[in-house]
Amino acid sequence: MSTPQEILQMIKDQGIQMIDLKFIDMPGTWQHLTVYYDQIDESSFVDGVPFDGSSIRGWKAINESDMAMVLDPTTVWIDPFMEEPTLSILCSIQEPRTGEPYARCPRVIAQKAVDYLKATGIGDTAYIGPEAEFFIFEDVRYDQTENKGYYYVDSVEGRWNSGREEVGGNLGYKPRYKEGYFPVPPTDTLQDIRTEMLLTMAKCGVPIEKHHHEVATGGQCELGFRFAELVKAADYLMTYKYCIKNVAKKYGKTVTFMPKPLFNDNGSGMHTHQSIWQDGQPLFWGDGYANLSQTALWYIGGLLKHAPALLAFTNPTTNSYKRLVPGFEAPVNLAYSQGNRSASIRIPLSGSNPKAKRLEFRCPDATSNPYLAFAAMLCAGIDGIKNQIDPGEPLDKDIYDLSPEELALVPSTPGSLELALKALEEDHEFLTAGGVFTPDLINTWITYKLDNEVNPMRLRPHPYEFALYYDV
Ligand code: GLN
Ligand code: MG
Ligand code: MG
Ligand code: MG
Repeated sequence: MSTPQEILQMIKDQGIQMIDLKFIDMPGTWQHLTVYYDQIDESSFVDGVPFDGSSIRGWKAINESDMAMVLDPTTVWIDPFMEEPTLSILCSIQEPRTGEPYARCPRVIAQKAVDYLKATGIGDTAYIGPEAEFFIFEDVRYDQTENKGYYYVDSVEGRWNSGREEVGGNLGYKPRYKEGYFPVPPTDTLQDIRTEMLLTMAKCGVPIEKHHHEVATGGQCELGFRFAELVKAADYLMTYKYCIKNVAKKYGKTVTFMPKPLFNDNGSGMHTHQSIWQDGQPLFWGDGYANLSQTALWYIGGLLKHAPALLAFTNPTTNSYKRLVPGFEAPVNLAYSQGNRSASIRIPLSGSNPKAKRLEFRCPDATSNPYLAFAAMLCAGIDGIKNQIDPGEPLDKDIYDLSPEELALVPSTPGSLELALKALEEDHEFLTAGGVFTPDLINTWITYKLDNEVNPMRLRPHPYEFALYYDV
């Protein structure tokens, strides 16, 4: 970890001329401003660097557009994708006049969630480990020739994926339907590109662990990094996406974190592992179900109770809900279980190691803003602990195989973004309780999502409607 003085000294010693200041907007995209090195000094780490925030999605109106980005000295690396040696620094946003952290800055909200955890006395650290899946594609286009009604994706394996099982013919090393997880090359054609993605992340300070192909045939992949404290984990996740997309670009390919780019094949999730600690001790280990503590069970109770509203942040796109359907290892039902991957909360096997005891929330996907998603999950868990919310009985059967009568008793995930936003409108006190999310942020989020995503989607004739109705 460096201090501002050390960073300024390093800039001088290494003759770095360009400083790239990155920050996260409300929907979850990194934005950046590059400044000449003499534009930053020690005050940039306290008072920030001024910029016009009026064109940033979901932020200030034009008449009050001045904002400041405050440099975080713990998030510094040489940007591997810029030709000129450029120092990258992540920033949080603050009000330039009052010096207050900006209440709509997602990174500020994530920090407030951790501060809230400490203030409750429940714990002092939330560890988060996200597993974001994605597809590597050559190209995306709409096939009009056969009027099949889909956007077609030309996968890296060179296979037209029409969302159907292919029968007959020589597959020529192409993975079979749902058999992408995970044969060696030459079936896996993405080994080298994933290795480069992973090693590039390491250069940006992300503690890397592994990479592999995923289940879907069309070039679905996952890289792994070590879990981290909540804000750090969100920083890492953004760095993860940045490195993956930019390495793909170098290879002439594109990457998508869309949860369901291919009809009828596995989608991409962002399973999120989580645990709470106090004074260096894990709080989720105990003598309850699956060696969980009472605290962990209440945390699960909070996640399950607030899941419909929570998903407005963890699964915040119209496409998110096309993933949450049966048959593709994505969760549909709101239940918890040890080892059962069809439950929305899984308790991974952790042997007899209390430090490895955690839960995996399987709903989220990587179209979420990680700062808001992680903060919202922690708030739901804290609410569960504070109010001692009983998570009910675990569900140890394969949920996909339950009888209709049994299934009717298990609540399910909302069927659309619109329903999740409605749930958020009705249930958000758990987010505002500790002052983590402001009512203004919740309203802005709901309105933004309805105006920019839900309603525009609703207004457009869908290609599949042509298949259904054109000749009716
Ligand atoms: N792709 C699956 C999902 O949508 C997860 C597959 C896995 O990692 N086991 O959640
Ligand atoms: Mg994984
Ligand atoms: Mg996976
Ligand atoms: Mg997982």
